[in-house]
Amino acid sequence: HLHVDHATPEKVQAALDKGDFEPVIPAYETFESYRTSGGYDKLLALRDGGDWEKVQEEIFAAGLRGMGGAGFPSGKKWGFVRANPGPRYLAVNGDEGEPGTFKDRFYLERTPHMMLEGMLIAAWAVEAETCFIYMRDEYPAIHHILHKEIAALESAGIVEPGYIDLRRGAGAYICGEESAMIESIEGKRGMPRLRPPFVAQVGIFDRPTLVHNVETLHWIGRIAREGHQIKSEVSHNDRKGMRSYSLSGRVANPGVYVLPAGSTINDLIKAAGGMAEGHVFKAYQPGGPSSGLLPASLGDVALDFDTLQPHGTFIGSAAVVVLSDQDSARGAALNMLKFFEKESCGQCTPCRVGCEKAVKLMQAETWDGDLLEDLCQVMTDASICGLGQAAPNPIRLVMKHFPDEVK
Ligand code: SF4
Repeated sequence: HLHVDHATPEKVQAALDKGDFEPVIPAYETFESYRTSGGYDKLLALRDGGDWEKVQEEIFAAGLRGMGGAGFPSGKKWGFVRANPGPRYLAVNGDEGEPGTFKDRFYLERTPHMMLEGMLIAAWAVEAETCFIYMRDEYPAIHHILHKEIAALESAGIVEPGYIDLRRGAGAYICGEESAMIESIEGKRGMPRLRPPFVAQVGIFDRPTLVHNVETLHWIGRIAREGHQIKSEVSHNDRKGMRSYSLSGRVANPGVYVLPAGSTINDLIKAAGGMAEGHVFKAYQPGGPSSGLLPASLGDVALDFDTLQPHGTFIGSAAVVVLSDQDSARGAALNMLKFFEKESCGQCTPCRVGCEKAVKLMQAETWDGDLLEDLCQVMTDASICGLGQAAPNPIRLVMKHFPDEVK
């Protein structure tokens, strides 16, 4: 497995102490070194008479699904976008605002060109006129890297100047939702759209748009260069492939772990060198706050797409947070709902008012289970987007697995 080790608190503090707030630029693979090791050969060969459906077949054979959280089969998206007449666009979702998620940052701070080549291959496959990269502004080092490396791609003649349009996200969690991101790219307030129509049909400036997450494009680049085997040949707990887990909380070594997709939380804790000293494993968030909390007794469930469904939750972007006997599950759930209350875009009542009411009810000494469940049902049924629909998960899972804490 790989492990993040460069962004130590000391290094961050040293950068702040310098007083000029310049981002720490990690040592990463530049255009020259990527190109020297055969980078962009695949893209150039494909542009020179390649068959996009052959690449799509490789993506299908690899079993690649969207790593941003929704898990939609990546190859299928290409077909949907191509089914609509051009001009078409591509948008990279680099908003990575899910609390506990830092895997996209991990890839971009190390090997940005793998994502960029994957992006250009996907753009070639759907004949995109422009590639928009929507990158969260909280990653200043990545903005610096991408500015520099996109310029290198332009100088080398791999893309026309302006073909890749790097945009700055302004810190709204909801702009990680693809249709809100598109609104933001268009210069409007980021609010999710009603669907249908889907963004593959009506996306940026009403044109068909292919949206992929950063990690998805990293894998597309690798699969195109190295074949589907790099993902399809690994198997663990009946699950195929590798995936990246952002692991934080009460473990000895938090970081990004690239492990087989069938890994369980017990596997992850082991990979991280066990629990932090003096902590006993109690609960975990399997995939961002929208996934709520599961108890340690469900430590043998494979953390992948679909496997968590029977337990009322999902893997999302694989933002795993480990809680210990020194943490309160109820407190963690309240924190999650406060986050949703703050980040709700406010356009629909069940979410805007529901999150606020839920926070109030959760602050009572004893939770009113019936009333909370009634509220959860309305939010799930009637919210426009995933934020409001999934916000009840932490409430429901804490009532189910940690009833003693809310009585
Ligand atoms: Fe906005 Fe929440 Fe409605 Fe989503 S569910 S559109 S975040 S108010």
